[in-house]
Amino acid sequence: MLNYQKNLFLGIILSLFISYKTYSQEQNNLGLGIEKNTLSINGNPLEIFTLYTGNIQIHSCHYENCKKEKSPYILRFLKILKDTSHVEPIPINVFLIKHPEGNFVIDAGGDPQWYDESSWECEPFSRKIAQKLANVNVKPEESLESRLKQLGLKNSDIKAAIVTHLHFDHTAGLKKLNAPTYVGKGDIKNGRIIGSVPCKFLDGVKLIQVEPLLKGLNTEKQDIGDSLLGAGLSLTKDNAIKVYSTPGHTPGSLTIRVRTDQGDLWFVGDITFEDTQIETNSKVAGIHFNIKEIRKLHKNLKLILSRTNSILIPAHQVNTSQRIKTWSNK
Ligand SMILES: [Zn+2]
Repeated sequence: MLNYQKNLFLGIILSLFISYKTYSQEQNNLGLGIEKNTLSINGNPLEIFTLYTGNIQIHSCHYENCKKEKSPYILRFLKILKDTSHVEPIPINVFLIKHPEGNFVIDAGGDPQWYDESSWECEPFSRKIAQKLANVNVKPEESLESRLKQLGLKNSDIKAAIVTHLHFDHTAGLKKLNAPTYVGKGDIKNGRIIGSVPCKFLDGVKLIQVEPLLKGLNTEKQDIGDSLLGAGLSLTKDNAIKVYSTPGHTPGSLTIRVRTDQGDLWFVGDITFEDTQIETNSKVAGIHFNIKEIRKLHKNLKLILSRTNSILIPAHQVNTSQRIKTWSNK
């Protein structure tokens, strides 16, 4: 009996230690891990998980343009490569939407093998440019694959992935996810110019181009997204999840709108790094492929925000889950 009690006591101590260790692994220098917001759609639960999949540190001229806005993309890109200053690391967020019709993943995060040269064998040139452009810090337990496992999900539990654009910090988890993946046509066409890593991250991934599916779609009446951004592609029968073609950050950038009973969430990828960066007097990012398009898009997003109960969800903003909580409790 005494032995039994001793074992029980040790067991409790051990499990407390393990749960503390799991908890501390979840907490990283940005104080993030997996966070959940429970909203609803037509009275049914709709959960939004913000999955922290590491961080990225970019040059200052990447985050905020250092050249004239009219400067061609290639000159702004070269300026970023030459820039020696960095901004603080920003999170790489991936989003899991648990909708009554299925689970959707928005973006696929960064690469835990970023500094492992052998993993870049099929694209050594991309490695050089990409590693000069940014420091990517993803621990194995922070990869999209690990995050889904931590939530008890298998690949077959994911109905589809939607990638806001094909930059390397949004696509690394796609191969392992192995789900039908919606992407912008313009990013496939211009992959090499925009810094996509097709061989390492996209080989064998079932990519579905969105733009051809938008042709012939009627804009939904009273849908502000449709009227300002063009008809969106519904991924669910209730029209709650819609994908819009919003080129600017890259030629094939997509925006995903998730409608809930609490309001609309706009997953904008890197169209803006922070929600406040869409203000007319704010400096936009230097990395945008087409800044003129971005300014137009920011104007439309501001109109959407002013006319509806909406929130912008950029891919690299801190405290996303807290922002969603504050917004949805209003
Ligand atoms: Zn990014």
